[in-house]
Amino acid sequence: MSGLVLNNVTKQFGSFTAVENVQLSVPHGTFVCMLGPSGCGKTTLLRMIAGLDDPTGGAILLDGEDITKVPTHKRNLGMVFQSLALFPHLSVGENIAYPLRIRGKSREDQKKRVDDLLSLIHLSGYGDRPVSKLSGGQRQRVAIARALALSPKLFLLDEPLSALDAKLREAMQVELRQLQQKLGITTIVVTHDQREAMTMADTVVVMNGGHIRQAASPIEIYRKPADTFVADFIGSTNLIETSADSSGDATIFGHKIPGLTLPSGMQKATISVRPEDVHLTTPGNGAISGIVTFVRDLGGTIETFVEAGGKQIVAVSTPRARPNVIAGQQVGIVLAPDVCVVLKQ
Ligand code: ATP
Repeated sequence: MSGLVLNNVTKQFGSFTAVENVQLSVPHGTFVCMLGPSGCGKTTLLRMIAGLDDPTGGAILLDGEDITKVPTHKRNLGMVFQSLALFPHLSVGENIAYPLRIRGKSREDQKKRVDDLLSLIHLSGYGDRPVSKLSGGQRQRVAIARALALSPKLFLLDEPLSALDAKLREAMQVELRQLQQKLGITTIVVTHDQREAMTMADTVVVMNGGHIRQAASPIEIYRKPADTFVADFIGSTNLIETSADSSGDATIFGHKIPGLTLPSGMQKATISVRPEDVHLTTPGNGAISGIVTFVRDLGGTIETFVEAGGKQIVAVSTPRARPNVIAGQQVGIVLAPDVCVVLKQ
């Protein structure tokens, strides 16, 4: 396969297993975000792909070639780390030209490539400026251009945007994704920011405890989380216990959910329901009964907290679809069967 393949990649530090039997295919030209809580093993995995750490098991293939033991500088990678590691005493152009100079490219070739890259990152005319005189976002773009100077096969970035303020960061996410699409370069980004992952990735890889819990498109991760961990980690959700009645239909707090059945043989399960899928109505008519405990109007959205069956359920609506309820009011909760995702434990 053209692209990157991780085959049962494992990394142990002494007796501690940081990454275990990771299996992943990244087709050529796709953008993958590795996402997960601190310590889940995402940086270790990226470092193994980069050749900065050796796997203790498994193999890494790039375009069909086993690169597990190939040193970093021979892997044809571009890398950007959180620190950026730009040379502060060099100009923008000299920073971008650095890898070309090391490879012995002619002065003309260097100049042409630097000009092309400056145009690509919207910094034409900035070549002579010291990097110390750039904004955070501009410095970020220079680091990206330098990493792309040798037209690598694989572009690896570790938390590349985390030093930027929130607004700039969002703008750079869009810019990075557009750049990647323009170049068609296989790209892997490590992030702990799920919004960033959802913005940029073709495939989001959710990791926990050294394992991949789910690798799928952003919308599939959101709409069809594979398990309780993914459902809870990505966005907000309501995790609700259900049990099957004698005919296999799911019931929640004693109320049957019409159209929702649990897989055969399953007596109990946790379902995930996104807050925007919780519909509040008047009590009765088979709706789950609850009592409003708090209403939070955030301007763009309204969050209604409802206690039902001793649990808290959150409903989110737009101001136009405002449920118009107040704390202390009895309400009915309606869950459509297609928004209830039965989770693996
Ligand atoms: P963060 O978001 O905090 O950077 P991460 O998901 O990138 O977390 P890793 O840096 O991959 O996590 O670390 C995974 C686990 O491996 C952690 O428990 C970490 O302490 C451990 N670890 C990483 N590098 C080493 C090392 N050189 N020696 C021993 N343990 C290590």
